[in-house]
Amino acid sequence: MKALPRRALKIIEPQPVVEGAGVRLKRSIGTRTLDYLDPFLLLDHFASTNPRDYEAGFPLHPHRGIETVTYVLSGTVSHKDTLGNSGSIGAGDVQWMTAGRGIMHEEMPQVSPEGIAGFQLWVNLPAKLKMTTPRYQDILASEIPEIKRDDGTIIRVITGQMDHIDGPVSEIAADPFYADVSVPPHSSFTGAMDPEHAGFVYLFEGEASFPAGGSVGEVRVTSPKLVVLGDGDSINVVTSESPARFLWVSGKPLNEPIARYGPFVMNTREEIEQALLDLRRGNFV
Ligand code: FE
Repeated sequence: MKALPRRALKIIEPQPVVEGAGVRLKRSIGTRTLDYLDPFLLLDHFASTNPRDYEAGFPLHPHRGIETVTYVLSGTVSHKDTLGNSGSIGAGDVQWMTAGRGIMHEEMPQVSPEGIAGFQLWVNLPAKLKMTTPRYQDILASEIPEIKRDDGTIIRVITGQMDHIDGPVSEIAADPFYADVSVPPHSSFTGAMDPEHAGFVYLFEGEASFPAGGSVGEVRVTSPKLVVLGDGDSINVVTSESPARFLWVSGKPLNEPIARYGPFVMNTREEIEQALLDLRRGNFV
């Protein structure tokens, strides 16, 4: 069978958002333009060296029905939760948190000369796992395999498989793939993708071209942008003068109804009301 590279279906400009106690970030999933890319509910990109943009952080808040994935590129995010976990996520580290039936936590970027840069992705949980036991997977930078290709391309595999290398995050319901890819100038990057997955590329450094529809051939994209990928079984990203760095993410769509209210994402309105009731009555966790 002939390989079918996925086309750039939509190119999304990240929107400035103020979240938490006043953190400035760029959101590209979870907005009016793209409210859901099943199974992905939200993608936030934070990057600032100005403490005023991030020092207020995300004080104690609840989550239910989702997984939150925090990937830090520079700086440190300290975290603490009602299950008794606490620690910090440093440069290159990942925290994959399955909120399940409920967790309350705080996420506080630390003020430092390098500032803070990174991402938070929300992955939806299927109905049968929405009330599962909360779980953390804290992955240190040193545990994330780095594939170096001959042309200088570097692929950090966080979850899923690439070139027969498995990422350290495991047993995630949506069977996601998550990698951080750096492609040098004048290169062509190709990778296999599960044809049943929905996927995107979040280009956060440089420029790259993606296959486009119809007679256009290809479309040139300048960072930061989210590229929603169409159907196919592979990805093709081509650079010219400029290098490119991007998150490459995919997952199996759940195809279930969603009801969302801030940090809660359930299947029905009633389940959201239950979450609010549990929170009010103090039996959320
Ligand atoms: Fe949170």
